[in-house]
Amino acid sequence: MKKVELHLHLDGSIRPTTISELLNISLEEAINLSTLKTKSKSLKEYLDKFDIPLKIMQTKENLERVSYELTEDLLKDDVIYAEIRFAPNKHLEQGLTLEEVIKSVLKGLSKVKIKTNLILCMMRGDSFEDNLKIIKLAKKYLNNGVVAIDLAGNEAAYPVMEYKELFDIAKKEGIPFTIHAGEADNAKSVKNAINLGAKRIGHGVRAIEDEETINLIKEKNITLEICPKSNLDTNMYDNLKEHPIKKLYNMGLNITINTDNRTVSNTTLTKTYKDLIDVFNFTDQDLINMNINAINCAFITLNEKQGLLKQLIK
Ligand SMILES: [Zn+2]
Repeated sequence: MKKVELHLHLDGSIRPTTISELLNISLEEAINLSTLKTKSKSLKEYLDKFDIPLKIMQTKENLERVSYELTEDLLKDDVIYAEIRFAPNKHLEQGLTLEEVIKSVLKGLSKVKIKTNLILCMMRGDSFEDNLKIIKLAKKYLNNGVVAIDLAGNEAAYPVMEYKELFDIAKKEGIPFTIHAGEADNAKSVKNAINLGAKRIGHGVRAIEDEETINLIKEKNITLEICPKSNLDTNMYDNLKEHPIKKLYNMGLNITINTDNRTVSNTTLTKTYKDLIDVFNFTDQDLINMNINAINCAFITLNEKQGLLKQLIK
């Protein structure tokens, strides 16, 4: 089945073989450092898995390589369109400029014939000035490889409303955005993100805890970027059976299926779809519907959407 992926972090999706080669460590050690074996006991344990990828992604060559390799992996996973996200400010440790970071990633993505765009992440906990730089960068590259911004990082420690001024600027600049919300924090975080102007919500699953938020999602036609395996890995649910994805789907919400971090969660969309079919009896048509949702809310033009829809249901 052809697939679309909207919520995918570059730094969480580096091949362990590449980590092994670039750091000159065994593959086993590379897997240990970058992949969760069992669900994490704490958010820190989950976030620690990004330390090694970030260490590698500090040169033009390596940024280009990991971006290129991710698109190769997406191609194997039958992905026809992906919006790949990352936080450019995390790649400046060895002297690269923000522009060099973006250009290197775009160069890597352009080498494989699969349609991709970037979402640039502002980070919870970063300064206003650093996050403002990401808005300016997104504005400069908007519709030239970059299609939106995001807010990622520790949701529980940094409520979304602290970033209102930044999102007001993004709105004024005409930059679309999605926001990570309703993962580590509750439904109110989702409601706040929608009220700030987010058209899509990263995760958003905890919206299910509040009827008013569910109604707001319906009323404003908001899309949820659901990442089932990631939610298990961060210990939100004991097992897939307890995940609210089916309930949210049955409520008629626009939901989409995503991996979040392919390496950290040791998953692909193919694996995720298979698990969802096994546990929830989703039909092929259900999965096609979710891909149609993904195309409809992708940060691309109507023409591009029509092209993808044709490819999807061919
Ligand atoms: Zn995410």
